[in-house]
Amino acid sequence: MLKNYRKFLNDLDKKLDKYFKSQSENICCKSGCSGCCEVGDYPFTQLEMMYLMTGYKSLPVHHQAQIRNNLMQIKSNRVSTHLYYKCPFLIDNKCSVYENRGITCRTFGLAYLTKNKVVKIPECVHDGLCYSKVFKNSEITVEPIKEDLSLLEITNGKLAKKYKLDFGMSRSLIDWFP
Ligand code: SF4
Ligand code: SF4
Repeated sequence: MLKNYRKFLNDLDKKLDKYFKSQSENICCKSGCSGCCEVGDYPFTQLEMMYLMTGYKSLPVHHQAQIRNNLMQIKSNRVSTHLYYKCPFLIDNKCSVYENRGITCRTFGLAYLTKNKVVKIPECVHDGLCYSKVFKNSEITVEPIKEDLSLLEITNGKLAKKYKLDFGMSRSLIDWFP
């Protein structure tokens, strides 16, 4: 299954790369910018988690220890299952498992149109980052990507079917850890 998932990610990344290029005037993502990994609930399906953990297992032991420590801190401070948190895999403002990051992580930064005709705009627009130059009256004045890039749509889309992927259930990242 992971072999097919890698092929799927390869195709997905190519498509997203084109989207990012087409929106480059309004994208502010760069190494060390980590706002989208600092506050969120990070939905991950079972298959994405399996892949994420293969990345974790190849990390140096001190990074693994730091991630385990981050997980414990989040778990002990979290009083509600709905609370947002900083991703435990974020180390020194960088994703420690970048190659193995989730699908939602790969779409951070893009504004897109959902199936219900809602324009999803990155949260960092409020921090003067992605799309902030074209953000007026709670809307953007440029065309968003015309594809629903939500996790549910991507994991049930054509590409997932092409590779016969079963993503399993989705949970907030932290809830995959006991
Ligand atoms: S989506 Fe926003 S916060 Fe995240 S890396 Fe891009 S610019 Fe930074
Ligand atoms: S897995 Fe990486 S990219 Fe995704 S939220 Fe965590 S730190 Fe950010």
